[in-house]
Amino acid sequence: MDKEKSRIACINDCKIAVTVPSNNLIQILAILASTTLTDFRTPEETKMTGGIACIMDTLYVAFFGAIRLMDLSGQIQRVVNIPSVNILHYVNDDQMLCVHSKDQSDKTVSCLDFTNDSLCNNCQTKEANQTACYCKDCQIFICDNCLIEHRMKNKNHNYHYQSAILREYKEERSLTLSAYNRIVDLKFMAADIVAVLLVEKLCTYYLTGILINTFSIRIDKEKSRIACINDCKIAVTVPSNNLIQILTNQAPTTVTDLRTPAGIIMTGGITCRMDILYVAFSDAIRLIDLSGQIHRVVNIPNVKIIHSVINNKILYHFEQFPFHPLSVTTDEVGNIIFMEDGVIWQADSEGKNIKIIMSTVDVFLIGYTQITYNEDSKCLLTYSHGFNGAKVYRKLE
Ligand SMILES: [Zn+2]
Ligand SMILES: [Zn+2]
Repeated sequence: MDKEKSRIACINDCKIAVTVPSNNLIQILAILASTTLTDFRTPEETKMTGGIACIMDTLYVAFFGAIRLMDLSGQIQRVVNIPSVNILHYVNDDQMLCVHSKDQSDKTVSCLDFTNDSLCNNCQTKEANQTACYCKDCQIFICDNCLIEHRMKNKNHNYHYQSAILREYKEERSLTLSAYNRIVDLKFMAADIVAVLLVEKLCTYYLTGILINTFSIRIDKEKSRIACINDCKIAVTVPSNNLIQILTNQAPTTVTDLRTPAGIIMTGGITCRMDILYVAFSDAIRLIDLSGQIHRVVNIPNVKIIHSVINNKILYHFEQFPFHPLSVTTDEVGNIIFMEDGVIWQADSEGKNIKIIMSTVDVFLIGYTQITYNEDSKCLLTYSHGFNGAKVYRKLE
């Protein structure tokens, strides 16, 4: 080690990281029955100051030019442009205390927020508040305007996002929907009622968080999706059984099974418009009425998500749209709201002018997994496994 500059950071109760700036090295000691030592090299061209801290298995390592966030394999996840920090110390609320050498005053920075000087490395825009994305592969910050081009050119790059983004919406409340059960899908049924598909049941809730009803139902944990037919009827796809289940949420609750054609595979995707179900299969989208009769076959194969929008159009994909969202919805003016990489994005009705509108407080660990929007209440409901619940956001007028 370095007698002057080496410092230690405790990773957990049996792992310690030690900086060795003279060798450009971080040593990780695992103090178990047989103690092991792992070395990893830091970038050659940058000099370590020695300062190090650790939060949730991410090492914050100080260099003369910047602080680098590294995982325990030595992979750099982010570069925060705060130069010449000699001591790094983690304080609560995701804050990192940075102590500088004598010429610079000490300051506290939010370690999970992008700093003010994280400007887009591509267009050099002066608007730092538009730069919410960092490409891990290129190690550059990218603004909203340059994002699409970057994603088109680089199909498989990995990104980090600024935490706690909230644009165009305000948080209204949190709902505890299910503490123990993973949510498979959720959809608004009415302005203040939401249907939530869990692994073994379908629940309906008021937006205040009060449970209305619970139905036991067999589904596919991964592929089942729900479509609200009206404010008391829900369709659930069960691809493994070639089945669409229709639940009528009146006293007494009834379940009607609609068999789908044998020999073709359902993807799970479903939506409903005027009592017609749009059901996605491996070969096409079928328009099916509520008695199970097929009315039309649209030859678009393998659609995973279908979402009905105004003007009786069905949104399924855009060319030149460099995203593969896991959840999609639309607002009353046709903006497309979608979820990818755990953050929530918005595009206009043409799929253009894309920007990030929401990210979780800790995007490194917990991202969003589901979204649904109600046009009457102008509410966006989001869900994240990590929070065991959902949040209601209302659109700002
Ligand atoms: Zn840019
Ligand atoms: Zn890149």
